[in-house]
Amino acid sequence: MQVLKNLFQVGGDLNGITFDQPGALWNDANSYVLKTAQGLILFDCGCGDTMEQIFANMRYWDLSPDDIRVCFLTHAHYDHAGGAHLLKERGVKFIAIGETADAVASGDERCCGYLYHKIFQPVTVDQLVVDSQRLTVLGVEIEVMHLPGHSRGCTAFLFNWEQKRVVISGDVIGTLLSGDFGWSGSIDFDKTMYTESLRRFAKVDTDLMLPGHGMIYFHKPRRRVEEALNSALMQWR
Ligand SMILES: [Zn+2]
Repeated sequence: MQVLKNLFQVGGDLNGITFDQPGALWNDANSYVLKTAQGLILFDCGCGDTMEQIFANMRYWDLSPDDIRVCFLTHAHYDHAGGAHLLKERGVKFIAIGETADAVASGDERCCGYLYHKIFQPVTVDQLVVDSQRLTVLGVEIEVMHLPGHSRGCTAFLFNWEQKRVVISGDVIGTLLSGDFGWSGSIDFDKTMYTESLRRFAKVDTDLMLPGHGMIYFHKPRRRVEEALNSALMQWR
């Protein structure tokens, strides 16, 4: 599905871009491709079982899987990063914050493989980033925003595209219902950190929010973050 010119959603079972198994809605997180003149940037890569579907979706848009140069990980959960080892074998370079790199390198409970009755295949992150860092990848300046809580490594990535400020937000907010926040069952879930992250994220204006699951927000995404903050403040005080 094309989101903006040269920006595509290529995976995600909640809205049926990929399909994992009957009844599954959260097995395969959203993955997105940014097409640059220097190659493709992927954001998250799904659980792994849907990799061929992701590739097929890409080919429909004339995006060759061989052109994926880098993949950013929003966090270590299986539905977002379970397929990373498959891309690694193809020479894709991974970029993530230290907490996520540490989790995916071990493949331990922080990656939640148990939740899907699967073994998380460990993977080494090639480039570590830190909060507030701006790095240029394939000619695109990408800003890193570390928003821990749903997991320790939760990170949003922001960039300008087609005169719009775009944020890849992972599971920092849930997007199935208004005002929802991400799943709170992770072994490294932290309520206090999460609330602080929502406070900080609620001050950031963007034009387009591409979340880890469900629908993309094309209008006033910050309001959704404010609603999630409100829910967190009500439920967690
Ligand atoms: Zn998650």
